Amino acid sequence: MTRQEIETWLREEDEEILSELWERADRVRSETVGEEVHLRGLIEFSNHCERNCTYCGIRKGNRRLSRYRMSTEEILECAQLARRLGYGTVVLQSGQDEQFPAEWLAEVIREIKGATGLAVTLSVGERSERELRLWREAGADRYLLRFETSDLTLYRRIHPPLRGRSPDRIAQLRLMRELGFEIGSGVMIGIPGQSYSSLAADISLFGELDLDMIGVGPYIPHPDTPLSRVRSPLPPGEQVPAVDVMTYKVIALSRLVCPEANIPATTALATVNPREGRALGLSRGANVIMPNITPACYRRLYDIYPGKAGPAETPEECHARLLALLQSLGRRPGVGPGSRRRSRQPHSYPVG
Ligand code: SF4
Repeated sequence: MTRQEIETWLREEDEEILSELWERADRVRSETVGEEVHLRGLIEFSNHCERNCTYCGIRKGNRRLSRYRMSTEEILECAQLARRLGYGTVVLQSGQDEQFPAEWLAEVIREIKGATGLAVTLSVGERSERELRLWREAGADRYLLRFETSDLTLYRRIHPPLRGRSPDRIAQLRLMRELGFEIGSGVMIGIPGQSYSSLAADISLFGELDLDMIGVGPYIPHPDTPLSRVRSPLPPGEQVPAVDVMTYKVIALSRLVCPEANIPATTALATVNPREGRALGLSRGANVIMPNITPACYRRLYDIYPGKAGPAETPEECHARLLALLQSLGRRPGVGPGSRRRSRQPHSYPVG
C-alpha cells in the first residue's frame, strides 16, 4: 500500500466506503490471526519518570502527582492473578524510571517466568543496550516502545531531550529486534501539529519495521501538561482530529499493512468511546485487549491522560465483562502466550 493510498483512507469520511475498509481489515484479521483475542495483564509498576514529554500526565515536571513504585512481591501477586484469570502474558509498564536497578527488574522477570511461565512484555522506555540485553537474558519476550510520530520536527517538539540527547526510537526498536525481542510500537492520533501525510508515513513505517505489535490511540489532552494549552499550527483540513473513528482507521490500515501483528483495542480507545470503543476496535482489525490488573490503590496514579477507561471494578469483574464482550462478537479468549504467528509466505493484501 502506498502512502498516498493510506492518506486517502485516512481522509475518507463516507461511511459506506469506510465500511469496506472495516470489512477488509476484519477479514484479514480473521485469516491471519484468527478468532482468538489475547488478553494481556497490564501491570503499571511505577509512575516515576525522568522525561518531560509534553502530553503526558506522569512527566517529571508534574509536581501534583504522588509517585509510587511497586515491590517485587506486589508485582508477583499481580502476575499470579493474571495466571489465575487465564492470561498468557503480563505487560510490565512504567515511566522511564531510572531509579530502579536494571538487575532488580531482571530478577522480577525471572521470578515471574519461574512462578507462572507467562510471557513477559516490557514497556519501560528508552534503555541502554546493556539493560535490554540483561532483561532479554532474564527471559523477557517482547518490548513495547511507541515512536508516537515519525515526523522528526513534531517528535522533537513534544519530546524534550533528556540530558541533551534526543533519542532515536526507531534505532532502539531495531536493536531490540536484534536482541530477540518481539517488538511493538505505535503512535498517538491527533497530536496538535500532526498532518494526514505524517500519520500516513507513520503507518507506512509500521510496515517497514515489520512490527510484531502495534498500539495506537487518540491523543487525550491532560490538563496538567504543556501540550494541552497548545493549538495546532495546521489549518483544520490538514490537522488530524483526535477522534475515535480516526483511531479505527489507523487500526484497520495497520492490520492491512502488518497482517500478522498483534493489535490491541487500547484503553485510550475505550476512554473516548466507553460504550463501544473496544468492540469496534476488535471488529476493525484488533485482536488483543490489555486488562489493567494494577492494584486499585496505584491505578489512579498512573495518570498519563485523564479519565483512563475502567469503571471501579475488580480484575475478576473486568474479566467477566470482557468475556461477555468477546462472546457477543463471536470471538474467544486466546490460549497461551499469543506470540506473533509468522506465516511461511508473506501475505499481501490489496487495499485500493
Ligand atoms: S510518555 Fe513515557 S517517557 Fe514520556 S513522560 Fe510519559 S511516561 Fe515518561
